[in-house]
Amino acid sequence: MQKKYIFGPVASRRFGMSLGIDLVPHKTCTIDCVYCECGATTNLTTLRAEYYPTSDIINEIDNVLANYSGTPIDYITLTGSGEPTLHSHIADIIDHLKTHYPQFKTAILTNGTLLCDPQVRKDISQIDLAKISIDCVTADSFARINRPAAALDLKTMLDGIVTFCEEYTGKIWIEVFIIEGINDSENEILILKNLLTKIKPDIIHLNSLDRIGVEDWVRPASEETLQRIANALSSLPTVIVKRAATAAQQSEQPANITDAQLCQDITALLRRRPSTIQDMMTSFGCSEERVKKVLKKINAVCKDGMYQMR
Ligand code: SF4
Repeated sequence: MQKKYIFGPVASRRFGMSLGIDLVPHKTCTIDCVYCECGATTNLTTLRAEYYPTSDIINEIDNVLANYSGTPIDYITLTGSGEPTLHSHIADIIDHLKTHYPQFKTAILTNGTLLCDPQVRKDISQIDLAKISIDCVTADSFARINRPAAALDLKTMLDGIVTFCEEYTGKIWIEVFIIEGINDSENEILILKNLLTKIKPDIIHLNSLDRIGVEDWVRPASEETLQRIANALSSLPTVIVKRAATAAQQSEQPANITDAQLCQDITALLRRRPSTIQDMMTSFGCSEERVKKVLKKINAVCKDGMYQMR
């Protein structure tokens, strides 16, 4: 079955085996992060709309999950290559998952920019885990790292995140992407700490560049910098995210899919994010030889230059 909205399950550094659901077309987002591994935002917008037909997404969910017997899933994750809260019927999709597939935990990866809207807060209130990115707490770093749509205001956005976290009863994970020289100053980290103290997250992930971002000048933060920030936030539950290869090696899954299915699954993954051979081996439980064989097939039929082996 050709899947349009669902991909995986893939090994995620924080969610274990994650079945992803993409709710908006590639790079439809409220911001344009310099580190985004999905490429530059091509539709920079704050307009909520039914970007994909809700009934089509729900039909695909049913096709995949009704008799699911594949790799065990840790989370069904609303994510992909854009901002999922832009989908105006996200509540219907979450409700469908919770009603028909309660055996699976649900998560959302959001940049939090729309949480100032009470309707958005209500729409995602039933999800089990909200992972919210907060990279910047000053206007300068917000403009340089996140490059927001014109309608966004940093203070309104941060207030919205705080309000959501006060109302919400599920787990809250906060991710902070560090770029040295921009959002790692003492002042920025102090403001961030005050904000995070109000939010009371279950965990804070300090992240840094791991895969190729949009802008060449973005570099991984040094271990020293990440440790310095972790120390400054030590009164809060803070961890430094491991590099993908290290984490991936920890969760090999058994292979049980045909070459044709593997070809589709790898294509779906690569459409959304660059991946290493190790990522694919771990996600699909396959040997290096088998992944390389499938990649050769994909390359042979791909004429648009979307895939590059490095
Ligand atoms: S990293 Fe996430 S929030 Fe930032 S541009 Fe990419 S999809 Fe949007």
